[in-house]
Amino acid sequence: ADHGGPRRRFLLKLSGEAFAGGGGLGVDPDVVHAIAREIAAVVREGYEIAVVIGGGNFFRGAELQQRGMDRARSDYMGMLGTVMNSLALQDFLVKEGIETRVQTGITMGQVAEPFIPLRAVRHLEKGRVVIFGAGMGMPYFSTDTTAAQRALEIHAEAILMGKNGVDGIYDSDPKKNPDAVKFDALEYSEVLARGLKVADATAISLCMDNKLPILVFELLAEGNIGRAVKGEKIGTLVSD
Ligand code: UDP
Repeated sequence: ADHGGPRRRFLLKLSGEAFAGGGGLGVDPDVVHAIAREIAAVVREGYEIAVVIGGGNFFRGAELQQRGMDRARSDYMGMLGTVMNSLALQDFLVKEGIETRVQTGITMGQVAEPFIPLRAVRHLEKGRVVIFGAGMGMPYFSTDTTAAQRALEIHAEAILMGKNGVDGIYDSDPKKNPDAVKFDALEYSEVLARGLKVADATAISLCMDNKLPILVFELLAEGNIGRAVKGEKIGTLVSD
């Protein structure tokens, strides 16, 4: 897949909820297949793609905590959910003929490689997709923060943050307020000051400190992953 020019590397953050399809819980293979097809297409064009997937279709630590569970233990359950999403995506990418490695923040040798940053970069250079599962392996963090940390460590150009059912960042929730206004671009500081629910503040401030752009876009609109890597004007770009 070598196209001669400088290779462009992106960290694609996928909504875990999107993986559930209409069901809300678990994995809908049709949705995962469709996402894998789009990722495969851009990898064939020579883009290097690393992926982090959320886990909201299985467990969110904070939600389990509200129902009486220990936060750290429920966060580990959340992280394990992201591994299931990672394996599902790996399977469909392999079916598309794309070599794929899952690297996890919690060691589980039968299932995936451990997170080894230099090896991840080597995989990407060889045209493999690398999926980072199990978050950073640390409770009290999110997969958005994981996406920012991994993107920085592998020197990705930007985070492409694919959302489920919303095509960018709005000044209020467009599902509740029909007059909500979409932003084409925002500064990190505005996202934080307005308390916009794009990603958690830890993730946003990590991106801000390191000038890592975030493109927020609708994941499930056909062709959008291709548009996002090519820099077409979709979604909302967060930068400084
Ligand atoms: N999680 C964690 N540490 C990490 C990444 C994730 O503890 O480094 C846990 C946390 O409980 C979180 C869950 O995994 O609620 C699922 O990830 P996330 O909520 O980010 O998924 P999303 O809501 O984006 O689908």
